[in-house]
Amino acid sequence: MADKRDYYEILGVNKNATNDEIKKAYRKLAKQYHPDVNADKDSASDKFKEASEAYSVLSDDQKRKKYDTYGHAAFDQTGGAGGFGGFGGFDDFMGGFGDIFDSFFGGGRSTRRNGPVRGADLRMELRITFEEAAFGVTKDIRLNKDEACSECSGTGAKKGTSPQNCSACGGTGQIRQQRNTAFGSFVNVVDCPECGGRGSIIKEPCPNCGGRGILTKQKTISVDIPAGIDNGQILTMRGVGAAGQRGGPSGDLQIYIYVQPHKQFTREGYDLYIDIPVSFVDAALGIDLTIPTLDGKAKLKMGEGTQTGTVFRLKDKGITHLHSSRKGSLYVKVNVEVPKKLSEKQKALLREFDTLSHKQKSFFERVKGE
Ligand SMILES: [Zn+2]
Ligand SMILES: [Zn+2]
Repeated sequence: MADKRDYYEILGVNKNATNDEIKKAYRKLAKQYHPDVNADKDSASDKFKEASEAYSVLSDDQKRKKYDTYGHAAFDQTGGAGGFGGFGGFDDFMGGFGDIFDSFFGGGRSTRRNGPVRGADLRMELRITFEEAAFGVTKDIRLNKDEACSECSGTGAKKGTSPQNCSACGGTGQIRQQRNTAFGSFVNVVDCPECGGRGSIIKEPCPNCGGRGILTKQKTISVDIPAGIDNGQILTMRGVGAAGQRGGPSGDLQIYIYVQPHKQFTREGYDLYIDIPVSFVDAALGIDLTIPTLDGKAKLKMGEGTQTGTVFRLKDKGITHLHSSRKGSLYVKVNVEVPKKLSEKQKALLREFDTLSHKQKSFFERVKGE
């Protein structure tokens, strides 16, 4: 396996970072490596995956503790799956929703143990629109999922038979090999060659699953995406991952959310930002502006003499907080535009206006000078 970067280093936080700091750092990176703002999508995709992997570990107290103690080795016992294998690139999911995102990850492939094994976690990316993130949406997702074979109830043995305890290893799946050399004798523990490390032997395999005990099926599941979710967040559906083996629990389905940028609004947490152009006349005289919001239009009273760059706040016109009815604000920045094409009459009026302004000014200057 290639050298992996330190998770803390990836997120740019120190080892004592709080959960909040980790979250913030991750959100910043997820935004930075958004495919729509990166010319080099492959490199951005890799960076995103790296950050997501780091976040998935450091945001989970238990996993973080494990990582702090054992480093990457804590998560690398999956037979070289690379921890994050099968995580689809951007091109895989740009084709739209409902594509198959099959990926196996995590434990569950171990053949060494005899007891129940938890099913693999499945990971996928899901791309949603800005509005879907703001208001919530239900999506149907197709995925390839391992399920226990119904014919043999996951044992892999033909109906009416059951797997036999392996006599070569006594059911442990491992045997000790002793080698005597000139330097002494060494003991190696290796997988039992009789049962392949399983600890049991299937004399008559189940014809339905070929003895695997597991069948891969295409499933459609419905995912409720809550209002307020943001780019780079992860939805975890417990028990929706691959089936466990020998009675073990199913893994989880982890959905990495990608929110498409909006043409007009930008989002920061639960607040929205928009730039509104206004004419210099409106800025000078004041006017009631009509501002687009995510749900309809809002009125904004712009007073006389508003300067360019002025920011107005429309309360509760932002995004609904996750799992709450609170709402963020919409910040409206006014850009005063100077006219480019003027008729002769308009120019004449402006010159008159300018003369009036100068008279005013010279009057004040006169007052001041006296
Ligand atoms: Zn079967
Ligand atoms: Zn054996």
